[in-house]
This record gives sequence, structure tokens and C-alpha cells, in this order.
Amino acid sequence: MNLDTNNMEAIVAMLMKELKKVENKEESCSCYEAKNGVFHSVDEAISAAKKAQATLFASRLELREKIVNSIRETLKDYTLELAELGVSETGMGRVADKKLKHEVTIAKTPGVEDLKAFAYSGDDGLTVMELSPYGVIGAITPSTNPSETIICNSIGMIAAGNSIVFAPHPGAKRTSIRTVELINEAIRKVGGPENLVVTIAEPSIENTNKMMENPNIKMLVATGGPGVVKSVMSSGKKAIGAGAGNPPVLVDETADIEKAAKDIIAGCSFDNNLPCIAEKEVVAVDSIADYLIFEMQKNGAYLLKDEALIEKLVGMVLTKGSPNRSYVGRDAKVILKDLGIQVGDEVKVIIAETTKDHPFAQKELLMPILPIVRVKNALEGIEVSKELEHGLRHTAMIHSKNIDILSKYAREMETTILVKNGPSYAGIGVGGEGHTTFTIAGPTGEGLTSARSFARNRRCVLVGALSIK
Ligand code: NAD
Repeated sequence: MNLDTNNMEAIVAMLMKELKKVENKEESCSCYEAKNGVFHSVDEAISAAKKAQATLFASRLELREKIVNSIRETLKDYTLELAELGVSETGMGRVADKKLKHEVTIAKTPGVEDLKAFAYSGDDGLTVMELSPYGVIGAITPSTNPSETIICNSIGMIAAGNSIVFAPHPGAKRTSIRTVELINEAIRKVGGPENLVVTIAEPSIENTNKMMENPNIKMLVATGGPGVVKSVMSSGKKAIGAGAGNPPVLVDETADIEKAAKDIIAGCSFDNNLPCIAEKEVVAVDSIADYLIFEMQKNGAYLLKDEALIEKLVGMVLTKGSPNRSYVGRDAKVILKDLGIQVGDEVKVIIAETTKDHPFAQKELLMPILPIVRVKNALEGIEVSKELEHGLRHTAMIHSKNIDILSKYAREMETTILVKNGPSYAGIGVGGEGHTTFTIAGPTGEGLTSARSFARNRRCVLVGALSIK
């Protein structure tokens, strides 16, 4: 075909028309996405979150308070829906426990009140230390507590004046997206900025890496296993890493054994052992070990004695030394059924006596299988507990009435959470004092994160005035 001027004009007009169509489609697409905080493009999500953060930071603190309250008010009507969705999508956990986890997250995650200013004053004037936002935070969330972590992070990070781009676990995509949508609804109700909390429609490791690399992300918060914690810590950005644990529970001869057994089974079976803080192995002083096992059986433990069956269970639940995901967070009853043992719903935990070197004691299984390791006395118990915690400095429990042992254990374990004479979940505010969080940062040292963990320390100095001392 010869291209004369008329032809050229017609082709250009056609191309312009097609281009306009694409632009319009993209515009309407991002308008729709903006309503729900769910984006197809990582970079678009981050740009929208950046804009939202600027609006939030320019607004009164009152707006942050309203948003946090609205998240609490709105989400409290969806605790059952999110719990059911989480269990059905991931195949892990227990609905009733997950519902409770949502309730405590909503009620006990601190808001704006967590940001306390600090002042120096004297002859040279007044200096105020303030907690200021980072900007846009990239938050990577796990499959084990998907919606709980998103709610908890959203409250704390918004209270500190940030916007958030969530990179959820692909296996908890629907639950995570639904949570982000509900949070957007809550923010909209009180006139907060659109896209303060955003996520990606197709979560993947690739998209998470893309998010981490974007220069507009000023802080990374990873809640998950060792891989992702290492990845954010080597990103060159300010990072909070909330990683894996392997919490031991030590029981000595001075403990209230009936209560210890009850607490251990309650903590270990909570959400089928998915919480990183849950009891993962028992270290029991020999003189009380038999009675402890007996009491545990009274509280829903199934004792596996046959060595061959224990070995078969190892083969089932571990693949090349890592937990087999098809058994992570599953009911004890289901695991036992696959082992050829039929039990009822009253069985919540499988227990077995093992050595300290057994993989059940060494590995973080995240399922209701609890090994019991005998030691001759509490001092040996402290050493064994330290060994099994692998220096992760995450969580440990102890049941004892000996003040010296309680103190020594607490000092030597060096864990972020240490629960004395209670179930593990008391350490995150369920039946124990203190706030709730689902991002427990051992490796980077923030501990049980809250709004102040997501804020920068800034110093504002007024020279030579305003001190009235
Ligand atoms: P996971 O490590 O498989 O995934 C966590 C998140 O990291 C997901 O969003 C995943 O997509 C992402 N991810 C994983 N590897 C990555 C990589 N190399 N690069 C980029 N992103 C990556 O963990 P999970 O199975 O979802 O959760 C269970 C683990 O998380 C357990 O080890 C548990 O102890 C830990 N955890 C810790 C805390 C805490 O507060 N310390 C809380 C919950 C879970």
C-alpha cells in the first residue's frame, strides 16, 4: 500500500482512538481499584499509598484516631467471617480460636495514644523528641495469621501516620484482600484518605520483591519465616523482622502440675499451634513428668507411645526436614486419622516422649504435636530449653513456683516473650496483661510491635526559650 498523506492521517486518527480506549480503560480500572485498595500494579499501589500518606500527615491527629476507631468498629462485625475465610482458604487453624484472635487484635492493638513525646528543657531552651511517620510502609504478612496481622499492622501503622502496602502470602490471598477491602470501607466511613491501606490483586514473591525495591517504600515490616526476615533485613532499608520461634515450656517439680498441664494443652492447641508463640515442646523434670503426662491426657492430649508410629508420624509431617504444609495447622484428629488412629474432637494435641535431638523437639512444626523431653532437674531444663529455642529469642514458657528458677530462666532464655505460670497466649494479651500484636520482632529488637515501632524518632530544638523550670 502507498502511504499518502490521507492514509497517514487516517492511521494516526485510528491509533489515537485506540490509545484513548486503553487510557479510559486504565482510568476506570484504577478508579475501581482505588475504591477497594486492591491494585494490579505494584508501582501504582505504592504511588496511591504515597498520596494517601501525604494527606494523612497533613491532617489532624484526630483523623488518625477516628480511622483507628472505625477500623475497630467495622471489623468487629466480621470476626467470624474472616476466621472462617482464613480456615477455609488456607486449610489451617480453628475457627473459634481465629475469631478470638481477631477480637483481641481489634480491642487490644494500641492506637495514637502509643505515641508519647519526650522533652528536655533547660538553660538552652526546649527540645522535644517526637515520633513521626516513616511514610509508606511495605508490610509482608504470613499465611498463619493473615487477617489478624493485616488488622493489627493497619491500626499501629496508621496511628503512627503511615500508609501501608500489604504483600500477603499467596496462599492467603482471598482472606488478605477481603481484610484490606473492609479496612478501606472503615477508613472511607470517617472521611479518611482513599488508598491509605492497599494491596496487590495477585500476591507473589516476585511482587513482594518489586514492592521492597520501590524507592517510595520507606520501611519494611516482615512477619513470617526466616527467608523473608533475612530478605527485609538485607534490603538496605529500615526493616522490622518478626520471625520464627520454637518456644519451649519448662515444668519443674514445684509447679502446680494440674494447672500446668491444662495451660500447656490450651496454649499448644490454640489455633492448632499456628501462633509463633505457641508451646512447641515440653521440657519436664523427671520427678513430675509422668504425672504431667497423665494430667495432659485428661485435658485433651493423645499419648503416642509406639516408637514405630512415632517414626511413621515423623515421615508424614516432615518433608526433607521441613514441616509438610498439608499438616501445618491441621486438627490433631485429622493427623491421627492419617496415622491410622481414630479419635474424637476431644483430642486436641498429640504428645510423645522424645529426646531433645528428635526432630519434633528441634523443628518449628506449627501443628498440634508436642514432644516431651525429660530432664533430671530444673537447671538441666534451662539448658535444654535454651538449646531447643535455638537462640531465636522469641518466646518461652515456664511453670514453677521457685523464684530463683523463674528468674534464672527469664534471664537466660533472653526471649522477647516469657510467660510464667500461664498459657503462651497470655504473652499476647489473652488472659495476661499488656497489648496484643501479631508482629513480634525478635531479630530486629522492637519486640511486641505497636504504633511507636512504626515511627521515627525526631528531635525538634527551640534554642534559648520556652523552658520554664
Ligand atoms: P512464610 O515465611 O512462608 O511467608 C511469610 C511471608 O513472606 C509471605 O507473605 C510470603 O509470601 C513471604 N515470603 C516468604 N519468603 C520470601 C522471600 N524469600 N522473599 C520475599 N517474600 C517472601 O511464613 P508463613 O508460613 O506464612 O508463616 C509462618 C512462619 O511465620 C512461621 O515461621 C512463624 O513462626 C512465623 N511468624 C512469626 C510471627 C512473629 O510475630 N514473629 C508471626 C506470625 C508468623
